[in-house]
Amino acid sequence: MNKKYIAEPYRIKMVEPIRETTRKEREMLLKNAGYNPFSLRSEDVYIDLLTDSGTGAMSQEQWGAMMVGDEAYAGSRSFFKLESVVKNITGYQYFMPVHQGRGAEQVFLPQLVTKKGMFYISNIHFDTTRAHVELAGARAIDCVIEECFNIDLDHPFKGNFDLVHLEKLILEKGKENIAGIIMTITNNSAGGQPVSMANLKAVKEIANKFNIPTIIDGARYAENAFFIKEREKGYENKAIIDIVREECSYADVFLMSAKKDGLVNMGGIIAIKDNEQLYNQCRVAVIPYEGFPTYGGLNGRDMEALAVGLMEALDETYLRHRIDQVRYLGDKLKAAGVPIQYPIGGHAVFVECKRMAPHIPSEQFPALSVTNAIYLEAGIRAVEIGTLLLGRDPDTHENIPCVLELMRLAIPRRVYTYRHMDVVADAVIHVYQHRNELKGYEFTYESPILRHFTSTFQPIEN
Ligand SMILES: *Cc1c(COP(=O)(O)O)cnc(C)c1O
Repeated sequence: MNKKYIAEPYRIKMVEPIRETTRKEREMLLKNAGYNPFSLRSEDVYIDLLTDSGTGAMSQEQWGAMMVGDEAYAGSRSFFKLESVVKNITGYQYFMPVHQGRGAEQVFLPQLVTKKGMFYISNIHFDTTRAHVELAGARAIDCVIEECFNIDLDHPFKGNFDLVHLEKLILEKGKENIAGIIMTITNNSAGGQPVSMANLKAVKEIANKFNIPTIIDGARYAENAFFIKEREKGYENKAIIDIVREECSYADVFLMSAKKDGLVNMGGIIAIKDNEQLYNQCRVAVIPYEGFPTYGGLNGRDMEALAVGLMEALDETYLRHRIDQVRYLGDKLKAAGVPIQYPIGGHAVFVECKRMAPHIPSEQFPALSVTNAIYLEAGIRAVEIGTLLLGRDPDTHENIPCVLELMRLAIPRRVYTYRHMDVVADAVIHVYQHRNELKGYEFTYESPILRHFTSTFQPIEN
């Protein structure tokens, strides 16, 4: 038996048909979408790797649990069930649900911004996190290790903080001006790269020294725990849940988009270790945005599904298959010479498009070009994570310089098979082999905030 990539640890008992389009159809569909894959209809996509967020398949246990979800406003049974699961996993005292990760960011991040000119520091802020830091009147600074940007370098924890730089930043900006340190695990924007336990612990020690709160951005905290188990000495024989609890012990707050490692289609979490005052502030802030603190934009059914999904995502066999399937796709691309972030991350394969299309300058969005090319080639939808996503500096209005121009192929959880990954690999390899034909793009409309979602483009003909 081939154990290099373990087979799906599930049988499929409900299917959703998908449809291939012709190349001619796709040319028209993409043009009508303003050459922005976000504007495509998902039914016009054959294999949809736009995101792993809210796109996973729920289990029979989750669907079953939804039947007992009660009406949720104040103090529903479903809330208390979810609360006990979250407290059990994190070891924290306080919990409130929110509708998704950015809801948690909107409610929580302003609480620590107590004056003008403050900063959040993260390994790398996710795009909505960065947006909410800025909306809260603070600035976002990234502080990841240099190795992260060398895609060929084999490093087990490319999501790690640069500890020397972190301490320098705190001294330079003044500890009283640091609102908090956000540990993004895994580090989404850098390729789903994990952060080691030793690094989390060291960040916490630095934070304690300066009396700065630490926050886990835990969208993929279970995948991060699996990598720790696989790669970090001393964790080989630990249970995933114990690794997760240790991760949480190095933070004061846990924010989560449950649409990833919560294995649900909608949901989010704010959990606070022991700061009652902070919890009370969030309880007040959550009401106008998300809803009463015992439902936070979710209904009882959502909370039931999440209570089950959180535990399923800590199952080691589930996690092994999850990571194997992503690695299977990445290994195929790497073997064909396609430049990818290596080692392959937890939720996605990241193709480096600066190297794939060196003739396209960053301002012409090389990763958008490759993304559009694989849609035209095979109806596969991916997403640009580069200059377009990074946006403009709020002070100078210049494009923020971007080290890597990535195309992310995000794999939904429990949805596609290894055979689908073959189709994806063939398409990307084809585009790679014809990379000289790739063209850059220019704006026909540039959206002022989170511009990658809604801007439109045209190809630059030369
Ligand atoms: C998805 C994500 C978020 C935002 O969550 P949403 O549920 O999409 O609002 C925040 N941080 C990270 C690391 C994420 O991956």
